[in-house]
Amino acid sequence: MAFDALRPPSRDLVDDCVHCGFCLPTCPTYLLWGEEMDSPRGRIYLMEQGLDGAPLSDSMVSHMDRCLGCMACVTACPSGVAYDKLIEATRGQVERRHERPRGERLLREAIFALFPYPRRLRALRAPLRLYQASGLAALVRRSGLLDRLPPSLRTMESLAPPLDRTPRLPERVRARGERRAVVGLLTGCVQSAFFGDVNAATARVLAMEGCDVVIPRDQPCCGALSLHNGRDEEARAFARRTVETFERAGVDTVVVNAAGCGSAMKEYAHVLADDPAWAARAEAFSARTRDLTEVLDTMGPAAERHPLPLRVAYHDACHLAHAQGVRAQPRALLRGIPELEVREIAEADICCGSAGVYNLLQPEAAEELGGRKAGNVLATGADLLVTGNPGCMMQVATATARRGTPLAVAATATVLDASLRGLPASSLVGDRTRAAVPTGARRPSRRAGSPRPRGRPDR
Ligand code: SF4
Ligand code: SF4
Repeated sequence: MAFDALRPPSRDLVDDCVHCGFCLPTCPTYLLWGEEMDSPRGRIYLMEQGLDGAPLSDSMVSHMDRCLGCMACVTACPSGVAYDKLIEATRGQVERRHERPRGERLLREAIFALFPYPRRLRALRAPLRLYQASGLAALVRRSGLLDRLPPSLRTMESLAPPLDRTPRLPERVRARGERRAVVGLLTGCVQSAFFGDVNAATARVLAMEGCDVVIPRDQPCCGALSLHNGRDEEARAFARRTVETFERAGVDTVVVNAAGCGSAMKEYAHVLADDPAWAARAEAFSARTRDLTEVLDTMGPAAERHPLPLRVAYHDACHLAHAQGVRAQPRALLRGIPELEVREIAEADICCGSAGVYNLLQPEAAEELGGRKAGNVLATGADLLVTGNPGCMMQVATATARRGTPLAVAATATVLDASLRGLPASSLVGDRTRAAVPTGARRPSRRAGSPRPRGRPDR
């Protein structure tokens, strides 16, 4: 039997699939390999077989593992099949009931002992900065040593963004002018360890738009990586701690600037639905979780926008566009910046291959998807790629650099912050590239006279 009685994929949801195949052209793994069992329809068929008593075979697990969880199929499905719930339940079963080969098990254990823990990630910053700044990174790359590493380690090395000093955020950033809201900010694990400047920009933008921003210290991982990889109990524990942390903060809204985190937090109501002590609290928490762009779009602009003469390509992070349905708000906010032109990317619905830790677990497929995305991004002729997820930033920066044409990459929050503060466009196409392009990649030069953005949020 593939599945036991503890939260198996729902038979009713499986039965919603009418096998029409409309989802196939939007599925990245089907595009890569053309295999029915690597399509949403094929995977749902395998789940049905599992529910009918087929064993959890290596082959079944490998088709489930290859799914990016990008949810493009959820957007495409005319029958409203909740594939997101199906794959999450299936992955929970796989992680509990399937014995993975030793190497794979160790890799997963290492990833999940590190990434959901901001303190452990931050502890990596000093050696990583030394590795980058000492020239050792460049030497290692030239030596060809990386080619002898397993693909996952090679990918990890290439994704690491060059690190500057990370600004330390205060526990409260006061609203500028009249206060319009009190919001909490989830700082995230990877975001806070490697993109602290994005959190600082987020806090500044919210404050300039009239929000008091509460940033609880020692906030836990939101559990997104665990949830999306079948580590159910871990995800549920992280969810409870996150709910508790922001209840204590006493905020109207919880703001998140990383798509993967936001989609998980909006799912807490489902994740903890069968826990009587937490179901109502989780539901209330999910109902007041918003992506940064949703909050700003709903409030409407209060602060003056200064011009940024840039052509930007906006990349829909899957967990923002497909999982949360947030597409219009970031575009509207970017278009509200004078002299900024938003360009659309071909195949916008297809995942860039980042998908949480997918690029570490399935590095070859992720690299292929990254290359495809990089080609489409570069074809827009944009000066800057803008997106709402740190994983996508690293993936696209690495993929464009790999093609020998590195492109500056920025978070939506960083672009809004630059406009509100009246920074020059060069602060984005220079500095953000420094922060997002992998070590050793060619970078556009910083224009003379452009100031560095300030590291600390205004209080
Ligand atoms: S979540 Fe993405 S990769 Fe997985 S089946 Fe759906 S479209 Fe394909
Ligand atoms: S998941 Fe939806 S789009 Fe895909 S085959 Fe089933 S019903 Fe059709």
